[in-house]
Amino acid sequence: MTDQPTPVPHIRIVGGGIAGLILATRLGHSLGKRGRARISLVDKSATHVWKPMLHTFAAGTWNIYQQQVQFLAHAHQHHFEYIPGELEGLDPAARRIHLAPVEVEGERVAERRSLDYDVLILAFGSRANDFGTPGVLEHCHFIDNQAEANLFNQRVRALVARSFVHGGDIDIAIVGGGATGVELTAELTRMVELASSYGDGAMRQRLRLTLLEGSQRILGAFPEAISETATAQLRALGADVRTGVKVVGADEAGFVIDGGERIDAALKVWAAGIRAAAVFEGSGLATNRAGQILITPDLMAEGSRRIFALGDCASLTPDGAERPLPSTAQVANQQALHLIRHLPGWLEQGVEIPPFVFRDLGSLVSLSDYDAYGTLGRFGFFRGGLIKGRFAQASHAVLYRRHQLTLHGLMRALLLWLADRINATAQPPIRLS
Ligand SMILES: Cc1cc2nc3c(=O)[nH]c(=O)nc-3n(C[C@H](O)[C@H](O)[C@H](O)COP(=O)(O)OP(=O)(O)OC[C@H]3O[C@@H](n4cnc5c(N)ncnc54)[C@H](O)[C@@H]3O)c2cc1C
Repeated sequence: MTDQPTPVPHIRIVGGGIAGLILATRLGHSLGKRGRARISLVDKSATHVWKPMLHTFAAGTWNIYQQQVQFLAHAHQHHFEYIPGELEGLDPAARRIHLAPVEVEGERVAERRSLDYDVLILAFGSRANDFGTPGVLEHCHFIDNQAEANLFNQRVRALVARSFVHGGDIDIAIVGGGATGVELTAELTRMVELASSYGDGAMRQRLRLTLLEGSQRILGAFPEAISETATAQLRALGADVRTGVKVVGADEAGFVIDGGERIDAALKVWAAGIRAAAVFEGSGLATNRAGQILITPDLMAEGSRRIFALGDCASLTPDGAERPLPSTAQVANQQALHLIRHLPGWLEQGVEIPPFVFRDLGSLVSLSDYDAYGTLGRFGFFRGGLIKGRFAQASHAVLYRRHQLTLHGLMRALLLWLADRINATAQPPIRLS
């Protein structure tokens, strides 16, 4: 692919996740469509999914293929270019990014290449962090992207099928009691419950789910009352929730915890910690220990005037705050909307980008169809309140529908919702084959 110089500024966005795809879509309409800038989006994947939903694909309680957005088609409809590629380095002085070779279904379709930019926006997200724990990379599943969620789902289906035929245990252990680990535990329970109800009613009793958390409570980012209720709910569902345990290793047969105790499991998931998805040795960008790019309140990489970073791959500590903003969908979404509003003025009139101010609208955690809990945040209508039950479940679903609305507009978002409703009545609620 040749990279022609352009008469208008070229804004390259790397990562089409929650922040990057909203940005590319909206800037495509405000700048790309009118020829005021060229917008391109680089992503190593061909499709976008709402990442907070990955655990449902992993458990098979939601169909991944119905929910993904094809970058190529979406780019065509929204006036930006999609470029397949994985960022592996960047050279701010030369204003170039370096992409790894691209392979599709095992076949090489593009060689290693470098592309230039006028403005670079990094939004390549994060991954779980194994903290160098021996055996984790080799023996554990991660649920950080579609491919990993899909691979895990294949293994779960095989385990369920084996239990169906031979009556063996379905033993799964998950490390990390944050939202991902907790939600995955509930979805897996729901999946086996439904599979069990189709035939072998005893299969539900053969599910052995263990959730391991290093700190003293699960859902550490939520108020204690929510942690306690969620723990009680998961235990009532049959999960073994263990807090204050340090995992020191993983092997073929399970996890080893501090003190030598073993937790045996056929399937092991690592859903703890966070680190930036790409690391740039020698790029000159300042990063923290998790590899996240340090940014200033105008969302620019520290020391740079042309590189922005947002979402999980960036770390911003607001003035006067002791801690950086959390790595959440809400922060990524608000940062993208901030740039959508202010980037055109900065680009065309040199107007400074005002400091980003995070409005905490609360957080939600969903325990599949069983329950959901949340806080309403400091800016919601019922400030700081706790919610649970149907209202929390509906609020959780609304977050995804709002993301679809931002990406597709009202009509298409409504059609997608309708298609989901029809599918939900016409198709089984779980994926078994
Ligand atoms: C299972 C799960 C459940 C979650 N639940 C919640 C929740 O309930 N609430 C909440 O607020 N947050 C939740 N999160 C966290 C939330 O998903 C993230 O905070 C959010 O997705 C960050 O958005 P982002 O745009 O920064 O990155 P992402 O949405 O992760 O997107 C990153 C994009 O960059 C691409 N990419 C990565 N590396 C490269 C590279 N080197 N080159 C090119 N492209 C690259 C990826 O393919 C992806 O498209 C959850 C996360 C997981 C995994």
